[in-house]
Amino acid sequence: MPNNVRRFSGACRRLVFSLVAICLVAPALPRAQQPVDMRALQDEAVANLEQYIRLNTTNPPGHEDRTMKFFADILTKEGIPFETAESAPGRGNIWARLKGGSQPALLLLSHMDVVPADPRFWSVDPFAATVKDGYIWGRGTLDTKSLGIVELEAFLALHRAKVPLDRDVVFMATADEEAGAAYGAGWVVEHHPEAFKGVGFVLNEGGGGSVDAGRQEFGIEVTQKVPYWFKLTSTGTPRHGSEPPVASAVNRLIRALYRLQTYEFAPRIIPAVDTYFKGIAATAPPQWKDAFLDMAKTVKDPDALLRLKTEYPEKAALTRNTCSITMLSGSPKVNVIPPEASAELDCRLLPDQDVPAFKRELEDALNDPGITIEQLLGFTPAVSSTDNALYRAIATVTKAHYPNAAIVPSVSTGFTDSHFFRDRGIASYGYAPFLIPQADESGVHGNNERISIENVRTGTQMLYEIVKAMVSQ
Ligand SMILES: [Zn+2]
Repeated sequence: MPNNVRRFSGACRRLVFSLVAICLVAPALPRAQQPVDMRALQDEAVANLEQYIRLNTTNPPGHEDRTMKFFADILTKEGIPFETAESAPGRGNIWARLKGGSQPALLLLSHMDVVPADPRFWSVDPFAATVKDGYIWGRGTLDTKSLGIVELEAFLALHRAKVPLDRDVVFMATADEEAGAAYGAGWVVEHHPEAFKGVGFVLNEGGGGSVDAGRQEFGIEVTQKVPYWFKLTSTGTPRHGSEPPVASAVNRLIRALYRLQTYEFAPRIIPAVDTYFKGIAATAPPQWKDAFLDMAKTVKDPDALLRLKTEYPEKAALTRNTCSITMLSGSPKVNVIPPEASAELDCRLLPDQDVPAFKRELEDALNDPGITIEQLLGFTPAVSSTDNALYRAIATVTKAHYPNAAIVPSVSTGFTDSHFFRDRGIASYGYAPFLIPQADESGVHGNNERISIENVRTGTQMLYEIVKAMVSQ
């Protein structure tokens, strides 16, 4: 909502109860429905986030049973039934459902685990939820405990206000996203399919707002690069390191990896990526405006492509398949030529890529049939539509609060738990209702992760408005 409207609402709250009701709630609502005290909800969101951050769920080992209990206590106090399930000792998952009408259910999803934080490189204790300079500091403030809290607050507000629902709303917080979700969303999908009964929409992490030099951009993530992870293994005769043979397992692997490292996957602009670049062109720096408007042409210009890779590696990654060589292993001893050497590759495919064709291209690039290629992980490519109730609700509410922002469907270079649902044809969106300064984004998986209290407060209101729009069509 624009600032002037927010101030008006604030003034209303200071009046007597009957006026509050008139100010905050549309007059034609059923009698049973109660008004939502947004300021109280925002205060609660900030307090809950601080508590949530203090529960250390560094993965590994996770210990999401702590945060599962945190949510269970809150839901118990509210009288909302819930289910919990531990996929392994200490690995907690929790979900709750508000019953509504027959429209496809909305799932509010987030993960409870966080990546490790090394306190030596932080200016505050990463698990103290220090409040300083208008920010809450701590591991998980951006990825993704704040989203979990604003989803919770929207869920609680619907329940408390007795909002009539034309669809079920499910709140779910899971373990293990940061390590692939074998103990989290992936496990719940497999072992508790009943939790997803009737779900047609998922709101999850993966998109959101960012601001750089005054330029605001909100990405509503509709698809992701598709991860394919491979292990390459070469073999050879082991020997003493003092007697090098012409060919060894290590040498052979290095030669193949060099061929891959210097191989260029051809750029190509898929429709979702084209829409994304066109959407951000208006607010892009002047030298990029025209280039973003016609990316199919831009990527054919080697100079422009190189500039894109240098200035915006994350945007460049949207224009082609990529493979990063990330893990290497050879001999455990310096003077032993090993019988086996291996490398692991993190490849990310454009979401419409034909997978067998990509594997053939990878084999050709490595150009050594003696090296075995084992697939460690791979997902089904899928894109969610921009033409449905949830996408529209997200876009409309975001526009009302940030009228100057570019609001665009986006493609993520990384992956989240959304793939479990997109794989099943469920429309899933990555979106957090926060406008994060670009400088703060490095806190995601980095040091000094923090979120402004203003973001938590505005985000609480925005998420409630999005969910409210979804349940009252
Ligand atoms: Zn995350």
